[in-house]
Amino acid sequence: MSKRLYIETIGCQMNVLDSELVVARLLEAGYQLVDHPRRADTILLNTCSVRQHAEDKVYSALGRLKHVKEHHPEKIIGVLGCMAQKDRELIFRRAPHVDLVVGPGQLAQLPALLERVAAGEGPQVEVSLDRKAGHRQVVEESFAPYDPARSVEARHGRHQAMVRIMFGCDKFCTFCIVPSVRGPEQSRPPAQIEAEVRQLADQGCLEVTLIGQTVNSYRGIDAGRTVRLSDLLERLHGIDGIRRIKFVTNYPRHMTPDLLQAARDLPKVSPYFHVPAQSGSNAVLRRMKRGYTAEEYRQMLARIREAVPQGAVTSDFIVGFCGETEEDFQKTVALVRESRFKNSFIFKYSPRPGTKSAVLYADDVPEEVKRRRNNELLAVQNAISAEENRPYLGRTVEILVEGPSKASRRRAEEGEVVQLTGRTVCDRIVVFEGPRALVGRIIPVSVIQTDAFTLFGKV
Ligand code: SAH
Repeated sequence: MSKRLYIETIGCQMNVLDSELVVARLLEAGYQLVDHPRRADTILLNTCSVRQHAEDKVYSALGRLKHVKEHHPEKIIGVLGCMAQKDRELIFRRAPHVDLVVGPGQLAQLPALLERVAAGEGPQVEVSLDRKAGHRQVVEESFAPYDPARSVEARHGRHQAMVRIMFGCDKFCTFCIVPSVRGPEQSRPPAQIEAEVRQLADQGCLEVTLIGQTVNSYRGIDAGRTVRLSDLLERLHGIDGIRRIKFVTNYPRHMTPDLLQAARDLPKVSPYFHVPAQSGSNAVLRRMKRGYTAEEYRQMLARIREAVPQGAVTSDFIVGFCGETEEDFQKTVALVRESRFKNSFIFKYSPRPGTKSAVLYADDVPEEVKRRRNNELLAVQNAISAEENRPYLGRTVEILVEGPSKASRRRAEEGEVVQLTGRTVCDRIVVFEGPRALVGRIIPVSVIQTDAFTLFGKV
């Protein structure tokens, strides 16, 4: 069996990390990574279900692969991740040329499943239980933790890494598919996380980003004692070699004083908080079952600003949620205007089969109204982002240099001066010219120009 692997990832950071871990594991099993499906024997799509658009992308990619499979029936095509968990056998019906379907809670089985397909045992499906299929513990066990050893070769850069500290989600926001496709919330044991971060530090990693669906509700257990995110940050802070620690995504109700204190007092912890608000209207927040009011969100924001004045806050919003009136929407606009987020991710509501909102409420905001609200909110946010970046003009910022910018990636040669990008502790993107040798270093850069999305700098 020839083992050339191509993998494509759609979706969030959790998926990016899963793909990286899958690659690490398969490299170990003798696979070799290639950069085009044409050159691959095994083609994997790691998929997302959070909005219809993400699923459409996967089905059209699968449509394109049909042709490939017709000419090369020996190639193995696999669908991994959230859409695999959600659609299961339906994927074979819609795309009969798919050989295997593996949910995010079953990735550890992948090498064995690939061997079964190669041995001619036919299509393989491995998914986890439904949330309501049995006792919590049984369902939890069916979403098996996946944490194979980290490998520099599989990572997207030697100097940065994501580290999962939690699996799943228990929030059940009415719009969201994540709790059903990623399973019950489970915190990884602190000692395991610490060992992984030490391993990453030994591999030359300078920055770790701790990830979880609601990362600040982390509750680890160590020797019978509860370890909160703030405690974990303190433990990781002591690891030599690690210079920066970030964490995403935060849930507004768990932005507790101990966490803010940790972000204020631990110099390696980035004063950067991604805390999705979703809406500025209490009626909408209630239907979303977010568990807070707009006033409570504002109070939470005030606590962040007070504890960590140099910090940056970012948010997510959904526009056109079921029953959202123009007045509701204007309340969201008002929240964005006054909150001064560094940036916001704005999404049009997309009903997800099986979620509470899809069952209980009509998707009654017309598509063109969703689009208009999306554009309007984005324009308000972008103007604020530009204003928030402007004071950086003339300042010197410390950045971790990540690599050549997209534009210069293709033509760059070793040693040549290229356009590089890096990030500040607050996750601001800085673009500047410099030698490639700067990649992986933390350096001061002076800012000579700014816009809504980027700081332009000079070494
Ligand atoms: N728990 C994580 C990931 C959730 S998905 C978090 O809170 O960030 C990321 C974002 O996608 C959410 O914050 C929300 O703004 C958006 N989203 C989730 N479900 C959606 C849906 N059905 N339609 C549109 N946007 C959605």
